[in-house]
Amino acid sequence: VTGPRIYLDYNATAPLRPAARDAMFRALDLPGNASSVHAEGRAARAEVEAARRAVAALVGADPRGVIFTASATEAANLALTPTLALAGRPAPERLLVGATEHSCILTGHRFAAAETLAVDGSGVIDLEALAAALARPGRVLLALQAANNETGVLQPVAEAARLVHAAGGMVVCDAVQAAGRIATDLATTAADALILSSHKLGGPKGAGALVFANPDSSIGLPLLRGGGQERGARAGTEDVAAIAGFSAAAVEVAAGWREEAVRALQRLLEEGLRERFPEVRVIGAEVPRLPNTTCFAVPGVAAATLLMALDLAGVALSAGSACSSGKIARSHVLDAMGEAPHISGGALRASVGWASVEGDVIRLLEALEKALATIRQAASKAASSGRAA
Ligand code: PLP
Repeated sequence: VTGPRIYLDYNATAPLRPAARDAMFRALDLPGNASSVHAEGRAARAEVEAARRAVAALVGADPRGVIFTASATEAANLALTPTLALAGRPAPERLLVGATEHSCILTGHRFAAAETLAVDGSGVIDLEALAAALARPGRVLLALQAANNETGVLQPVAEAARLVHAAGGMVVCDAVQAAGRIATDLATTAADALILSSHKLGGPKGAGALVFANPDSSIGLPLLRGGGQERGARAGTEDVAAIAGFSAAAVEVAAGWREEAVRALQRLLEEGLRERFPEVRVIGAEVPRLPNTTCFAVPGVAAATLLMALDLAGVALSAGSACSSGKIARSHVLDAMGEAPHISGGALRASVGWASVEGDVIRLLEALEKALATIRQAASKAASSGRAA
């Protein structure tokens, strides 16, 4: 391997921004507990409240609506509950989820069961199916992602929210992959609450947020009970350093998220793929997608084989939803889109971000060309020795 490693897996986690690291070191040196009344405690509290303002500003929220958690997964588990009390609105009775939601939505809720909304071949939910589901009895809570982590495909969250609100329901939007990459806030999504993750923005792992559009909303029954931190929504002494790092990342992202530069990298990659490998399919290319994500499949080549060859060549990508499992399982996202096994089994994801440059994409294309040539040579050798035997 020549040259530094190339990291193209920002949707799994983004490298820590230097500004976030600096903020964390500064916060680690604060001795106080943010709940203490002395000067040390007040200094820690000031960090947490500055972070609340920064995260709120990123998504156009009132800072009082921000609840810090340890992850977006925790925020999903917190929000998706039949005890959710959105300022003066009656509690939800049914949970609807998109078929391509992240597992923290699909399995992290506190309802007895969830009803799944199908997606079309491009991965977009069917608004007519949503309208039909809303016509059935029971007040609905819809959990719909702004953008998919595997394909980058965007959901029509604002249109869905209009339908849900008209039927007296409410919407929680998983904005983990969209925030800081495309204009995603409470106004553009029309959601009642957003879920955010620090480490996808270039902040540290170990911080997330649930952001209510109306700060007078509450969880009803919190997950973590004890001290009254986070206005009673999440007990436990605040991780001031993680929250400060999250804040610094949010401030940097809000100052400019390189959408056009990132989109140019996507164009370079996808034009390169089409030119060099005409057999490759870019999944979701026909619908609006995140500018940083390219999910592509090489028909007939196992994703795991290609992923390992690329890793050896110094390029980090992911296959399927490797976000948490560390292993390559079948993708429920590609299954829901009706992709055939020879496509979903070969699907890789390249995702770029704040530190990505053109050279990274070029290295990926070159490494892919070499890896595919080696894999195909080995396969044809094996086939011909099989014939000879
Ligand atoms: N939602 C989406 C769309 C994601 O990609 C992830 C990634 O892990 C999560 C939620 C969970 O975020 P966290 O790692 O902060 O729990």
